[in-house]
Formats: sequence, C-alpha cells, structure tokens
Amino acid sequence: MSIRDLTSMAEAQGLQRKEINERLKKLQNDVSDYCFQCAKCTSGCEAHKLLELEPHKIVALLKKGLIDELVNADIIWTCMSCLKCFERCPQNVAPVEILYALKNLAVANGKQIPGQYTAILQSVLSLGLIQDIQTMTTKENITIKRDDLGLPPLSKPVDSATFQTAIMKLALEKI
Ligand code: SF4
Ligand code: SF4
Repeated sequence: MSIRDLTSMAEAQGLQRKEINERLKKLQNDVSDYCFQCAKCTSGCEAHKLLELEPHKIVALLKKGLIDELVNADIIWTCMSCLKCFERCPQNVAPVEILYALKNLAVANGKQIPGQYTAILQSVLSLGLIQDIQTMTTKENITIKRDDLGLPPLSKPVDSATFQTAIMKLALEKI
C-alpha cells in the first residue's frame, strides 16, 4: 500500500473532507474569538524566514475564511511542526493546528504532496522508520556507524503487509 492508495480512496476522502472542513470551521471560530493579531507566534516561528506567509497572517486569513487560498499555499508544507507558535500564543491559539488541518485537506483534495513527505511515508511503511539508518560524520571527520557505538541492529516490521495496513488505518483515523 502506498500514499497513492491513501489519496485514491474516494469514499474515505469524502468523509475526510467533511471532518477536516468541520475542524477548520471550529478553528476559524476559535481564532475569530481569541486571536488579537499580536504576532507573538510569528516572532518565535523557526521557519519564519522560509515561510511564504507568517503564522499570524495565516490565522488572519483563516479568520476571513480564505481556506482555498491557504490550501494552495506552499507554507503548509514548509512549517516544521515545532509547536512554538502554540507555546508562545497568549490566547492559546495554535497556528500549527490550522496548518495540520490544511495539510490534511490538501491530501484529501488530491493535491500533490512534496516529495519529502512521500519519501517519509514510504520509509515508515517499508522500514517502520522515517528514514533509513544513517552513518554520522563528526566534527573531527570521523564516520560513525550504529555498530561502532555498540548499538544492536534495528529490526524491520516482521509482517510488513499487516504493519502497512495498520499504519494506513491509523493515518485514516487520525487525519
Ligand atoms: S500569538 Fe496567538 S493571538 Fe497572537 S497573532 Fe498569533 S495566534 Fe493570534
Ligand atoms: S509549528 Fe510551524 S508555524 Fe508554528 S512556529 Fe513552528 S514552524 Fe512556525
């Protein structure tokens, strides 16, 4: 099973879109009630310089109901989910939650997902890890492998078909 399967389940997509739109509606109500545009979220945002839109502007656009514009913006894939915007907000608003919901809506709408996300999902499905085990190079230019540190080898999922089905089920439940 691959990410294509996740995005090609028409019935599930319909349900997902309904749930995600309801979630976005609730988030829109919350930000309309509580966000006073102080921009504290943006001042702590780790990806601030990379973002096409800053977190407080995303909140402002959601307040105005401009969901289509947000779903099509690159920012939803650039946010690194550090949660600082949530931690810093004096009003307990979570711009990162808005970004999660927008990413979910983009997937449910069949939009192209950046390659890095697809690669991570494929790696989780095949290895149970977000990436293959890497060797490390220290500042002294010494290459260290897992074995060198006396760490045991990592095991892959034994029954990969069952594992993949369970992961995809979880993804659909949590979307
Ligand atoms: S920190 Fe909170 S209240 Fe301030 S702009 Fe960001 S979301 Fe709105
Ligand atoms: S979670 Fe995303 S939007 Fe929020 S501070 Fe981190 S990078 Fe910025």
